[in-house]
Amino acid sequence: MATVEGCACTHAGGGGSSLPAAATSVTSDLREKALASRGAAELVRSLTDEVGPRLAGSTGSKAAVEWAMRAFAERGFANVHTEPVTVPRWERGEENGAVVAPVQQLLHVTALGGSNGTASGGVEAEVIEVDSLEALGRLPPGAAAGKIVFYNIPMDRSRDGSGYGRAVPARGVGAARAAALGAVAAVIRSIGTDHNRLPHTGAMRRDEKGQSVPAAALSVPDADLLHRLIERHKSVRLRLTLGCRWLPDAQSANVVAEIPGAIRPEEIVLLGAHLDSWDLGTGAIDDGAGVGIVVSAAQLVGSLPRRPQRTIRVVLFANEENGLSGAQAYAKSHQADADKHVAALEADSGTGRAYGLRYLGEPQARERLAAIALALQPLGIEPLPADAHGGADLGPLRALGVPMIDVAQDVSTYFDYHHTANDTFDKIDPESLAQVSAAFALLAQGIADLDGDFGRVPEPKRQPERRGPQPMSF
Ligand code: ZN
Ligand code: ZN
Repeated sequence: MATVEGCACTHAGGGGSSLPAAATSVTSDLREKALASRGAAELVRSLTDEVGPRLAGSTGSKAAVEWAMRAFAERGFANVHTEPVTVPRWERGEENGAVVAPVQQLLHVTALGGSNGTASGGVEAEVIEVDSLEALGRLPPGAAAGKIVFYNIPMDRSRDGSGYGRAVPARGVGAARAAALGAVAAVIRSIGTDHNRLPHTGAMRRDEKGQSVPAAALSVPDADLLHRLIERHKSVRLRLTLGCRWLPDAQSANVVAEIPGAIRPEEIVLLGAHLDSWDLGTGAIDDGAGVGIVVSAAQLVGSLPRRPQRTIRVVLFANEENGLSGAQAYAKSHQADADKHVAALEADSGTGRAYGLRYLGEPQARERLAAIALALQPLGIEPLPADAHGGADLGPLRALGVPMIDVAQDVSTYFDYHHTANDTFDKIDPESLAQVSAAFALLAQGIADLDGDFGRVPEPKRQPERRGPQPMSF
């Protein structure tokens, strides 16, 4: 604990010989209070039980905005308000998949978000299997024409979620690539680490020419079944029926609230999470957990005897899942005061315990985070050498140079449930959620009271590394 004492001056925000000890006790009180709190889990319970699924543009999404306004007001936040966001609106419909020859088997499928529907009788064709996007590109000319492309790309389980980054590009652009080769539909092996029969949805995109084909995910066991049938019989026919469709854009909102800073209120420490969820489950781990983490963390800092020096702003973003509309709207309307954002942190990694911190800002200012990080050591959280990514909702702010801090959470089991009907409140671990919330509270308080700041993200690092066609987002 001596090292924690040593960092206390960082939090004190001023001179005076008695301040380090006072600041240390503030930090350790905050940590203990946050660990004992079940506020984050209660927020997830309330959001998932009382609102439930909340895909952009749906009635659930409207109810979620109202829920968030109430949740902030009831917890004593200041400047509680909405900021308008236009969101695309996509609806799932009927969804059926079946092997029709040489054997007959029903398959458990779900449409990828943003997919077109099929004609009413469905689409039926021979399947061609590939194990990567690159493998599709290597097929002989005409090989995919008139067929259903099957991307069978297993996802590895890992603490840091890197398996997702490797598997997810085929979900994003696989259908568009298949369309460009004349395929009639695409199916993917679910991007998940489970072995149950619930398929995982997630966003897909058209290419620059607007091309795509109907696209669905198969549950992992069904992907294995299809693979075995193709291995044995070579020619396998599949029928896919999807009733999903696009509707006109809808109005939604980012919901914003603050713990106002006492000394530098115009300087912002931003804590973000996304309020929307996919439609299959109730959005507990994705991203009810993040909402619970950031709201309860800011509330805990707001309840300290001394107000933070800078403002802590919580932003619950609209439509992360199906197009990042809320993230883009926030960055656009706050472009002029982007330089007042001292740092931004996002919680969008579920309920697993936090184990590390990543930093992206002016390199010389990294030590400032290391000083704050000492207060997180008793939580088992250590600074990591890799650059912070920032999360999907923070990408547009990163592009404007806003420093990013990642709280790395253990996502070993996250992808067992992610984007499935199984993303429900029972998956939430209140204790580990409190540990993550404690980390966010300590960081928010430490950064709000920090002497100096993290500068700006250097130009070459403002765009995320292209690990795939879309930013790493869970
Ligand atoms: Zn998600
Ligand atoms: Zn998410």
